[in-house]
Amino acid sequence: MPDLRNFGSRRFVAPAMTKLSTYYAKRNFAKTKEPRGKVAKGERHRFVIQRHAATRLHYDLRLELGGVYKSWAVTKTPSLDPAVKRLAVEVEDHPIEYGTFEGTIPEGQYGGGTVQLWDRGTWRPQAGTPARDLEKGHLKFVMDGVRMKGKWALVRMRDDRQRLGTRARHNWLLIKEIDGEAARGPGGDALQKAVTSVKTGRTLEEIADKSTKIWNSNRSVKKNVKALKRKPAKKKKTPAKKKAKKATANRKRK
Ligand code: MN
Repeated sequence: MPDLRNFGSRRFVAPAMTKLSTYYAKRNFAKTKEPRGKVAKGERHRFVIQRHAATRLHYDLRLELGGVYKSWAVTKTPSLDPAVKRLAVEVEDHPIEYGTFEGTIPEGQYGGGTVQLWDRGTWRPQAGTPARDLEKGHLKFVMDGVRMKGKWALVRMRDDRQRLGTRARHNWLLIKEIDGEAARGPGGDALQKAVTSVKTGRTLEEIADKSTKIWNSNRSVKKNVKALKRKPAKKKKTPAKKKAKKATANRKRK
């Protein structure tokens, strides 16, 4: 059982995320006509899954709703077998801008580790109003991604007793529903073979080794997005040049 004690606890909410919740907290959705989490039946919205090698490897499922990504940390590879349920720990809403990110989050920061874009596409509710369904703890939806396809369900489990000083975290189950995309038995593990990025084709190791893209959880979304748009910093001087310079310096010292 992976250690998920830190997921969803207030202490570990990054400043950027806090900002987003503040943004939403400031709007009174009962009074304004701004839509929040409203999706018309059949309307398509984006989704992403970021495979995340943090303290434990997990899959961050993000469904666009009401201008943010509703997010869950799925502790194992999603199973195509309708009989297999995957634990999906609800985490804070993420900004849409984070959904295209692939790269590294520095160690010691919230979510420190390597992030791989494992899947992306669109989703739509099977019926009803997804915001209301999420509140009720039962969302049935259809995914149209590279790897995740067909009918899925997210079902909230009974809440854990709240730990002192932390916000109650909600555990959900991610379950494949029976359809043509489902596969029972060993075939249900098919997605475990999918280890590359849908964006760059790279493995987690390749991203960790080569990526120049960095997301700093302790900075605002705006600053991160701006930094990611900039061209990567120029490479350091070539070894030959460096050597020559060193040699000159040594000569001077003598
Ligand atoms: Mn994560």
